[in-house]
Amino acid sequence: MRLISHLQSGEARLAAVTENDQVVDLNRAYAAAERAAGSARAASIADARVPADILAFLGLGERAIEDARAALAHVAGLDETARVRDLLVMPLGEVRLLPAVPKPPKIVCVARNYADHAKEAGRSVSEIPILFARFPATLVASGEPVIRPSVSEQLDWEGELAVVIGRAGHRISKASALEHVAGYSIFNDVTVRDFQFRVTQYTAGKNFVGSGPFGPELRLREDGLDPSEMEIVTEVSGEVMQRGNTRDMLFDVPAIIEHVSEFIGLEPGDVIAMGTPAGVGFSRTPPRFLRPGETVAVSITGLGRLENPIVAEEDLK
Ligand code: MG
Repeated sequence: MRLISHLQSGEARLAAVTENDQVVDLNRAYAAAERAAGSARAASIADARVPADILAFLGLGERAIEDARAALAHVAGLDETARVRDLLVMPLGEVRLLPAVPKPPKIVCVARNYADHAKEAGRSVSEIPILFARFPATLVASGEPVIRPSVSEQLDWEGELAVVIGRAGHRISKASALEHVAGYSIFNDVTVRDFQFRVTQYTAGKNFVGSGPFGPELRLREDGLDPSEMEIVTEVSGEVMQRGNTRDMLFDVPAIIEHVSEFIGLEPGDVIAMGTPAGVGFSRTPPRFLRPGETVAVSITGLGRLENPIVAEEDLK
């Protein structure tokens, strides 16, 4: 199942995307199914079983996914008039996308998780994963501007696999780690290099406003995706800059989940950005950074395409 969150009347709402790029509001669809079955409390039952908020939805686990599937089946059987009248279905092109998880409790990023990227950065490979944190306020949806800040010209791309946690856990073993994964998405860990390198900590360089493209959708693990075999391609205005594969990650998804959950509990909606392969801008000769007017796009096998225009901070209205 392909899930998105989008903004409607000021509210973030969870929806599923169908094969023909229609957006189905799962909460309203479940309520419609309840009403059709004669329930007098359809809306409140739907709020409890298929919440419109993705964090609440993920927190309900497999049961909510099954209920969402039933809601989709109900909508598939309705005629077009009923779908539109009850705001059950909209074209994907007409919704205002939000990040795949709009407000994750945590965003943990893995640094130097590909040997070729560590090498191009002139850094060693670590025997222990190197992590840093991102603030949720840095996130932007697919299609939204990545902001080139007025205080730096060194805006750089990093296409990455994003893991979204579905089931809470602390001290999770590698063997059971994937059972804690809700699904996968795409992250562009856009970095302001001079702010990253002028001190030893990553926090500033990795937390500029408008620097965290995440989405467009959350693809659930039940779809049979293999996070250890996905191609990652990053393009800047159509030119391929990165072409890597998650099979080359030094620490795979289970290893990272085990490592992170050794020190902090993971919870539904937490995001782990798994690190970037070679081909970033600062290690090129000459260095190549993102410029206003360009577009940066990250595509990952089975997860779609995350695309964002670069806009100068001075030009934002
Ligand atoms: Mg990164």
